[in-house]
Amino acid sequence: MDKFAQRSRVLIIYTGGTIGMMKDAETGSLRPFDFDNLMSYVPEIRLLDHEVDTIGMSRILDSSDMTPSSYVELACIIEANYEDYDGFVVLHGSDTMSFTASALSFMFENLQKPVIFTGSQLPIGDLRTDAKENLITSIQFAGLKAKGKPVIREVGLYFEYKLYRANRTTKVNADHFEAFESANYPALAESGVDLIIDHSALYRAPAKKKFTVHKELEENIMILKVFPGITEQVMKNMLLVPDLQGVILETFGSGNTKTDRWFIDLLRSMIDKGVAVVNVTQCLGGSVVMGKYETSEQLRQMGMISGKDITTESALAKLMFLLTKNLTPDVMKTLFETSLRGEISH
Ligand code: ASP
Repeated sequence: MDKFAQRSRVLIIYTGGTIGMMKDAETGSLRPFDFDNLMSYVPEIRLLDHEVDTIGMSRILDSSDMTPSSYVELACIIEANYEDYDGFVVLHGSDTMSFTASALSFMFENLQKPVIFTGSQLPIGDLRTDAKENLITSIQFAGLKAKGKPVIREVGLYFEYKLYRANRTTKVNADHFEAFESANYPALAESGVDLIIDHSALYRAPAKKKFTVHKELEENIMILKVFPGITEQVMKNMLLVPDLQGVILETFGSGNTKTDRWFIDLLRSMIDKGVAVVNVTQCLGGSVVMGKYETSEQLRQMGMISGKDITTESALAKLMFLLTKNLTPDVMKTLFETSLRGEISH
């Protein structure tokens, strides 16, 4: 078979972020560059065995400005091009990349193609940039096929030589090229002299089921990080949001909180009102185990949802997704505590 019979078609979707910026030679300031001319900035792409097209979002954003409606726009671009391409690369600012990529992992049901998020710490035009390697290797993962089928069939995040399951990642460093970590799940692949795939780590959705894109996301939710000394007044006021649908409670260690009566009563009243409250650890790695200590036993008894070893980014995305499905509290708890896209371990 000649090598072009194997050629994959990859669509690069540019959303914004540092990767797509160039230093203006005169002023030294960063500005987005014209992505239609991607090939002239990264001529190396021509050397790849893949056909590459590019498209931009309607508004190019710093990722701090991304919203659930940007997630929907991005999901729609992929849906509209799903049949025409073998894989997708999403160029995104690194700051909220784990949030967007986690959201897309839930919005895409039965995804059978790679959607690889990447970005960079330095602009593509910078002499010491990490952008070129991140971009080129992401295109390779997006185009990688075995026996005519994509090898990666999930939403991934590629940064600094590692491909991760996106909904397991967190941005952990604002300066280092190694900006992301997946503390509770191994890397799906590593790029060295060769691309080494850990096949046992890859996610597989049921192959026969139709690819479906869920476009509704609940926005009336919050992340509440507990801290030693949090007062009743502060906590009550935070939870006063009208029509609040869900809370991600970031707790200590394996899911522990203070045991003061007012604190427990406040959370119980939220759950009794039908608000979905999820217990997620503030730690980077490890899992919530409610009931392990006395300081989490009451949370377990009141029916709080366990986030187990999910990341906060992924918990937020999963709650946005599940809260639009009109679930009873019991079904919501069961589904949240079950892995839907490989986002929790057990
Ligand atoms: N502020 C930028 C963003 O997230 C940083 C980056 O691209 O890495 O859009």
